[in-house]
Amino acid sequence: MSGSYTILLSGLKEGHHAVDFEIDKEFFELFEESEVKEGSLIANIEMDKRSTHLDLIIRVSGSVRISCDRCLEMFSQPIASENRLLVKFGKSIDDTDPDILSIPIYENELDLHQQLYEFIMLALPIKRVHPLDKNGKSMCDPVMLKKLEELIIEEEKEDDPRWDELKKLMNDN
Ligand SMILES: [Zn+2]
Repeated sequence: MSGSYTILLSGLKEGHHAVDFEIDKEFFELFEESEVKEGSLIANIEMDKRSTHLDLIIRVSGSVRISCDRCLEMFSQPIASENRLLVKFGKSIDDTDPDILSIPIYENELDLHQQLYEFIMLALPIKRVHPLDKNGKSMCDPVMLKKLEELIIEEEKEDDPRWDELKKLMNDN
């Protein structure tokens, strides 16, 4: 299932190699907790294989569908990231350091789906809002914004003690 995010290590000659992985809806389905459910990205992996280690440059580019913080509608957030990962061939698995991964020397393959997911999450902006269009106008959904605005005004009315006073006065009359 996750075989498509795996690099075959057995038979991989020393030197330079490159591979591309396609990242789509199926990829994000591997992560139940993911706030991203859809995306269209390409992961380009450049490898430098040595006898003791594998030096990886992982570039991810494309876009993911996330919900806008302002109008709550979904939009496409562009993603572009570049990360380096050093894979050391040792005795056992150790992935406590995000930049260095140790794997047993006899391991036949290297599954990168977890690392790819983390790199994509790290590349998401802290504030997620619709981009501006070419005229500098926000692409947020105006209908949703108006609804949200009305909801906030309603809540403020309910919380305002003067509103209760007013209602009391009206009932008394
Ligand atoms: Zn928006």
